[in-house]
Amino acid sequence: MADQLADSQCQVLVVGAGPAGAATAYHLAKAGVDVLVLEKGIFPRDKICGDGLTPGAVKEILAMGINPLDEGWQPNYGLSVIGGGHRIALPWPESGSLPSYGLTCQRTKLDQRLIQQAVAAGARLEENTVVQDLLTDGSGYARGACAIQRDRESRQKRELTFRAQYVVDCTGANARLASRQGRTPLKNRPLAVAARAYFRSPRGNETMMESHLELWDGKPGKSNLLPGYGWLFPMGDGIVNVGLGSVSSGAQSTKLPYKEIFHRWIANLPEEWGLREENMLGSLRSAPLPMAFNRKPAYENGLLLVGDAAGMISPFNGEGIAPAMFAGRRAAAALVQALGRTSRAQSELALREYPRDLQDQYGGYYSLGRVFVRLIENPKIMHACTKYGLNKPALMRFVHKLLSDGYERRKGVASDRVLQILTKVVIPS
Ligand SMILES: Cc1cc2nc3c(=O)[nH]c(=O)nc-3n(C[C@H](O)[C@H](O)[C@H](O)COP(=O)(O)OP(=O)(O)OC[C@H]3O[C@@H](n4cnc5c(N)ncnc54)[C@H](O)[C@@H]3O)c2cc1C
Repeated sequence: MADQLADSQCQVLVVGAGPAGAATAYHLAKAGVDVLVLEKGIFPRDKICGDGLTPGAVKEILAMGINPLDEGWQPNYGLSVIGGGHRIALPWPESGSLPSYGLTCQRTKLDQRLIQQAVAAGARLEENTVVQDLLTDGSGYARGACAIQRDRESRQKRELTFRAQYVVDCTGANARLASRQGRTPLKNRPLAVAARAYFRSPRGNETMMESHLELWDGKPGKSNLLPGYGWLFPMGDGIVNVGLGSVSSGAQSTKLPYKEIFHRWIANLPEEWGLREENMLGSLRSAPLPMAFNRKPAYENGLLLVGDAAGMISPFNGEGIAPAMFAGRRAAAALVQALGRTSRAQSELALREYPRDLQDQYGGYYSLGRVFVRLIENPKIMHACTKYGLNKPALMRFVHKLLSDGYERRKGVASDRVLQILTKVVIPS
């Protein structure tokens, strides 16, 4: 089979089959484009994640023709926030443009279902295919990729070449192809590190997500508050995804002893969660979260970047699935236009619409997010926010709208309009 694939052709080559790759491939295939997806893993494969899906992510899943409630995925109706001696339950914001519920779904299941949907729409998928490098023409324009497949039994490797008119890098945080084109991470963008584990829990079937703002870097109350939060996301089936993350405003990842902080934090959580060692499933695993467009430009020289490859994670809450899927849909729209144009210059103009779409949707919002990260990096500010903010329900509803990206981009109520103005006036540094 690998020999047949050697020197295979397609219109668009998508590398990586996470949410970014699946959404890009689905929307391209739906428009009749010949799209091939290369994935190094074999589904179902795991991905370190909190498995939390906001209404924005639900919207993108629906846009791929999947009804998550019919699939039996665990819905949730908001977030309980705990800190500074307060607890507040915040339903997802009422919004015309977003559904009224979020979800949790393990990435083993979610990612497989999304890529299956892309394949059902007509995309071709090659698993067990590790892309090594970009193929370019003499001018450095992306024209495909070379990859290695290993025979599953003999482990013998085959080198393969895939040629395409355009290439999309959806390889996640390490952005394999973007790096080859010299698009390295920007130093002035926030970077978080987060760790998560699964537990069997009596509260695993609840329909509110829970977030804890008091993460201490030492003894609780006697050390510094970390700029981040801990989460408990009920997954259904009596399982809960428990994790924590901390962010820094620069490209350096925070060098914190995550394991230690995690175990100290869960030891102080109420017994009713049942987060004891014997209930832990698998191990605690961590990974970086590139944020606020830390790789730019999202289009150049025939190569589009989508999802974590472009550092699209929200600096407000660590959410990356909704932006990755939104960007996949918009990248596909730009590619469809580019493929239908009559000259290379015209196609280039069509492709340059893609970074503009991203900027319209997230540009001001993420600039505001960078300011937010710089503020909460100061433990005194973090402390004041948890102590004095959480007991003000109207303020917290507003903050929740901001942090969960639940505000309307057009019109909306007064709080939406305030956020629209803030995202327009913020000056990125
Ligand atoms: C601990 C943690 C918790 C998180 N929690 C949440 C959360 O609750 N909600 C949320 O929305 N986001 C969360 N995120 C962020 C989210 O996981 C990412 O933003 C999201 O997975 C991005 O999707 P993607 O498709 O861009 O990349 P990925 O999901 O990383 O997919 C990349 C794909 O490319 C493949 N690949 C990589 N290199 C190659 C190669 N050379 N050749 C072929 N294939 C390749 C990989 O195998 C993978 O399948 C969390 C992240 C972490 C680390």
